[in-house]
Amino acid sequence: MLRDMDEFGIIATYFAPLAGEGAFGLKDDAALLPARIGQDLVITTDTVTEGVDFFSFDPSADIARKALRVNLSDLAAKGAGPAHYLLNLSLPHTIAPDWLAGFANGLAMDQKEYGISLLGGDTGATDGPLSISVTAFGFVPQGKMIRRDGAQVGDAVYVTGTIGDSGGGLAIFKREKHSLSDADRDALIACYRVPQPPVAFAEKLRGVAHASVDVSDGLIADLGHIASVSGVRILVDGEKVPLSPPLRALWKDAALSRAVTAGDDYQIAFTAPPGLAGPFVQIGRVEKGEGVSLTLGGAEVALPKAGYRHF
Ligand code: ADP
Ligand code: MG
Repeated sequence: MLRDMDEFGIIATYFAPLAGEGAFGLKDDAALLPARIGQDLVITTDTVTEGVDFFSFDPSADIARKALRVNLSDLAAKGAGPAHYLLNLSLPHTIAPDWLAGFANGLAMDQKEYGISLLGGDTGATDGPLSISVTAFGFVPQGKMIRRDGAQVGDAVYVTGTIGDSGGGLAIFKREKHSLSDADRDALIACYRVPQPPVAFAEKLRGVAHASVDVSDGLIADLGHIASVSGVRILVDGEKVPLSPPLRALWKDAALSRAVTAGDDYQIAFTAPPGLAGPFVQIGRVEKGEGVSLTLGGAEVALPKAGYRHF
């Protein structure tokens, strides 16, 4: 319990050491960012909640990294390089100093990994579940943010990594029966706990991708967002969707249909002209019409649900 520490003690002890330039050591009301000539500021926010996006028994460093990384994938999908973030915490009264130390350590690790810094936030106590809201800021050259609404008929559809691993990890936590090796099980759980957003891809997508989205609700659901705002139809070839060996071993014949609806991937799905060279996998194409369909061996695959929904 945080008996001896109030809100300001928490901020000074755990978060002030993470503050970047312009944050005034978290001792002012606000942070100050000089405008960057020739660049646009890209802003995104996401909240993770105990029992929904992570478990209370997950290591606090992993929870911190997940809270940050689910935002970095949004910036990457927009072609933006990450720079700063704000951190809003609703902390249960039962939170312990060790937990906070681990949490701050997770943030410190990712600040180093991604070259980002903390600008400020808000800290409150709650009787409800732990909730962490991050707002992330990134930069793109002026006018170069990649939107969802730019997909063109004739484009190919690409993804930056395997799909469904995090959903597999979650299924294991929910005690779904399996006969995986310990290594395969741990690999899937790691994907659930600490996403690997393709931050380095941001620059590669700029000027190349016509439309882009981060895969958080499920591949089919998120491609559906591109299809709907771009006014096109997207066809996904199930044979080409990259699935990891552990996930195939876990879900067997249902691997494809479950993976594309699982969500929590934090990879990028984007459309661009066909034949793009790079570490992307081409999984489909953009046509006239509306909606998204998934085929396997020429036949349409029926999907269990349209992606993760909170309500
Ligand atoms: P206010 O009185 O305006 O609510 P606070 O006392 O909440 O301000 O915050 C004081 C300073 O500490 C501000 O610079 C704020 O950005 C920072 N801060 C508060 N909570 C956090 C947090 N969880 N992470 C980072 N900075 C924080
Ligand atoms: Mg405050």
